[in-house]
Amino acid sequence: MGRKYDFKAAKSFTLGLQELAWLAKYSAEKKMKASEVVNNLIRKAMQADNKEEKKQKQRGPLAFCTSCMKRTEFEQVENNWLCFECGEDKTEVIEYHIARS
Ligand SMILES: [Zn+2]
Repeated sequence: MGRKYDFKAAKSFTLGLQELAWLAKYSAEKKMKASEVVNNLIRKAMQADNKEEKKQKQRGPLAFCTSCMKRTEFEQVENNWLCFECGEDKTEVIEYHIARS
């Protein structure tokens, strides 16, 4: 139940010697299990990766924002396009750009 993505660290799973030495030192210092340290590191990388993916998905084309008075990125929030800088709703402008491209 809910554990099917558990990674089983087997003999085939190897880490670099320097990395292992650091891991041993770091987990001893922090009084954490090595697996906990590795898990936290992977989680951080995972969150950064998800964020990057989300950003790419949500961000629309570069367009001129009349509120910021500059070219800026727009993000899609539900059915509206909002200026990434000031949050102004520029759905009409962006849809016009999308329709033209
Ligand atoms: Zn703006």
